[in-house]
Amino acid sequence: MRPIQATISQSALQHNLALVKKRAPGSKVMAVVKANGYGHGLMNVARGLSAADGFAVLGLNEAIDLREAGFEQTILLLEGAFSVLELDVAASYGVDVVVHSIPQIEMLELAKFSRPMNVHLKMNSGMNRLGFKPADYSQAYQRLSACKNVQSITLMTHFATADDETGITAQLNIFQTTVSGLIKQPVSLANSATILRYPQAHTDWVRPGIMLYGSSPITGTTATDFDLKPVMTLSSEIISVQTLQAGESVGYGKLFTANKTTRVGIVACGYADGYPRHVGQYLSHENQHGAKIAVNGKITQTLGRVSMDMLFADLTDIPEANIGAPVELWGSQVSVDAVANVAGTVGYELLCAVAPRVPIKTVD
Ligand SMILES: *Cc1c(COP(=O)(O)O)cnc(C)c1O
Repeated sequence: MRPIQATISQSALQHNLALVKKRAPGSKVMAVVKANGYGHGLMNVARGLSAADGFAVLGLNEAIDLREAGFEQTILLLEGAFSVLELDVAASYGVDVVVHSIPQIEMLELAKFSRPMNVHLKMNSGMNRLGFKPADYSQAYQRLSACKNVQSITLMTHFATADDETGITAQLNIFQTTVSGLIKQPVSLANSATILRYPQAHTDWVRPGIMLYGSSPITGTTATDFDLKPVMTLSSEIISVQTLQAGESVGYGKLFTANKTTRVGIVACGYADGYPRHVGQYLSHENQHGAKIAVNGKITQTLGRVSMDMLFADLTDIPEANIGAPVELWGSQVSVDAVANVAGTVGYELLCAVAPRVPIKTVD
């Protein structure tokens, strides 16, 4: 079997969840497990995060899978229902919905189901993606309070700049001013960056995603800066070794040319496995090293252009590494954030993009 594998650590998930609870001791934790648990496998992560107070997903199918697997916590559809039928099914499974638009309120008013639902009313406080503008929020709230199909209303918004220097202050002020007139209802505000940086926004619920997986939401930092443990290890093996003489090159486009005798390990992992083809594209021709990569437990660099199924590691200083040597693409030796950084993206994208052809194994 091809040696590539993603290994998911249950104890790392538990550690990261405990860290969220330590940072936000007064809040319930809605673990965000959308996008197949950020690429880790929905059920794998739900098991490791079973001490969470709720799970947030996008697809009704994911919500049903969690219920049918026996999870009794709150389950929230982050984009709400897409039809009356979906709303009906969600209600029958006791699944909560975000309400972010007038058509979603109308669906709730028209629906005829036996048990009323918990809804999370989303405010657009400045992100301009989903939700009611502050001026329309209170009216949406009144309609939902008058709706017999609604059991409870949680007030919710999402911050656009919790991870950078702009911060959350402007959006938080808009949110607080808008909801100050509403009867006291539970509030849900904080994603991972907000949890790590803004204790004043730790309200009734927090909604961590990326930090639970042991990747940092804040560019320029890595998970270990926050004592988070990487949950996924993407590993493979060296399947061939080539020795380049000065002037010879390796891979498509001859992107890397050796200026001295260079030992190159061919790794069974490429962009069709989810490894970013962009690593190193931003570096100059003189400095052609790509991302950090660990071979036999030693840190080295990728070389040249990532192929569909293979990439290249510099083994010049790891002479003992041969065919069969273990490789870590990311995990505890090489942080996914560091690889993302040289690929011009974020850990979120790399984790979510691990391809279906990569087998996932769960360990304690
Ligand atoms: C994805 C998402 C989150 C989690 O964000 P992270 O940055 O991964 O912590 C929280 N809230 C909403 C509404 C989301 O869509």
